[in-house]
Amino acid sequence: MKKDFYEVLGVSRSASKDEIKKAYRKLALQYHPDKNPDNKDAEEHFKEVNEAYEVLSNDDKRRRYDQFGHAGVGTSAASGAGGPGGAYGGGVNDFSDIFSAFNDMFGGGRARGSGAPFGFEEVFGGAGGGKRGRASSGIPGTDLKIRLKLTLEEIARGVEKTLKIRKQVPCKECNGSGSKSGTTETCQTCHGSGEVRQASKTMFGQFVNIAACPTCGGEGRVVKDRCTSCYGEGIKQGEVTVKVTVPAGVQDGNYLTLRGQGNTGPRGGAPGDLIVVIEEKPHDLFRRNGNDVIYDLAVSYPDLVMGTKIDVPTLDGAVKLTIPPATQPDTMLRIAGHGIGHLRGSGKGDQLVRVNVYVPRDLSNPDKELLKELRKSRAFSPTGGSDREEKSFFEKARDIFT
Ligand SMILES: [Zn+2]
Ligand SMILES: [Zn+2]
Repeated sequence: MKKDFYEVLGVSRSASKDEIKKAYRKLALQYHPDKNPDNKDAEEHFKEVNEAYEVLSNDDKRRRYDQFGHAGVGTSAASGAGGPGGAYGGGVNDFSDIFSAFNDMFGGGRARGSGAPFGFEEVFGGAGGGKRGRASSGIPGTDLKIRLKLTLEEIARGVEKTLKIRKQVPCKECNGSGSKSGTTETCQTCHGSGEVRQASKTMFGQFVNIAACPTCGGEGRVVKDRCTSCYGEGIKQGEVTVKVTVPAGVQDGNYLTLRGQGNTGPRGGAPGDLIVVIEEKPHDLFRRNGNDVIYDLAVSYPDLVMGTKIDVPTLDGAVKLTIPPATQPDTMLRIAGHGIGHLRGSGKGDQLVRVNVYVPRDLSNPDKELLKELRKSRAFSPTGGSDREEKSFFEKARDIFT
């Protein structure tokens, strides 16, 4: 995972342009290759600092970075530039990688069922990740973000998905080096440092401006015999299949980070990450409430009064539910263990069945007669007898006594 640009420069996210400039100057001087000959670490730092400054010093790029992280700004690759060939740090991620990413994401005792608490900043902030070792010094590949739609059934039990992804892959012709022969040369413009200094005189004195080398784009090396298949980039658009194991209990907006499964970097640059953002499809029957699911069940009046057993759909198929006698409307009945699996730890939520009374809209005449009979019974009235019955009683009494 790439380092946060603000962290690289050691400034706060609200730092002013001046503060960013000052921090950059200080670090650029500190890690400058002239001061640190043959120091790979310093060179690496120097490149990071330059990359961070290029983004944070530009209002538009900085805004996009704040919003989308590294994915919003891409990399500072200059086209047609060369770099060292060699192995690229691609390869297969095992699932332990995914789970360690999940631990990063879901660690720290977050409250369950609270919407989508993870922002992209956290993905890119590198709280638990740390920088990946680079296989070579090419330009790092960008992160790739895809959305993965899941049904509630898939979320409830967890699912393994095979995804087809279009992304930048190493060019087969040149083995990702960008060079026909697989060789590169030290850039003559910057002598391998990857940056150029320009002195400018102003009324305040002389300033030395340090910028990425225009010839090699900061890589320090150039390709002389460019690969004709990828025009010296070392990468091509390709399609790959990726297996993603989604654990039970994820929510809309959660994401998985698959390290090293993003775009391959030009000329042997380390690949970025693949970020899979979970989307929950709405369900026809169920509403989700944390790890419980709610189901609305309409029950006939006689069944509510006398009790019955009803087949109720759940995420695992139909289950017989007992409606006890004298069940009141709006009662919540619980079918334990038929909800959604807990993301952390074992066990599952429940299915909650909200019982409501079914009121028919159209009645035949015989049905109406049945209801009229019911109406006569005091047991079916909340006041122990209908007004009509009371009235007729008084009417009868009047008839008798007058
Ligand atoms: Zn090529
Ligand atoms: Zn150069």
